[in-house]
Amino acid sequence: MNDTRTKIQRIGDVVHLKKAGNSWKGLCPFHQEKTPSFSVSEDGDMTHCFGCSWSGDFDHFIAAIEGKMPGIEYDDDGAKL
Ligand SMILES: [Zn+2]
Repeated sequence: MNDTRTKIQRIGDVVHLKKAGNSWKGLCPFHQEKTPSFSVSEDGDMTHCFGCSWSGDFDHFIAAIEGKMPGIEYDDDGAKL
């Protein structure tokens, strides 16, 4: 919890992050895109996507990635986006 590198690294396991000013940017895991619009705060506490309007703190992000909380949207046919 007090190790910010761990949060960034954990998110980085899912999203390839690049430093962008005071935050990190990468391709959103919740929708398909070619231009990074997924933003992570410098310490990894907050995540936000400007493309699909995903927003959540670190715990919410991890839970959504692991399918424990809403956040990942699926097509009606069940295909993962
Ligand atoms: Zn998104």
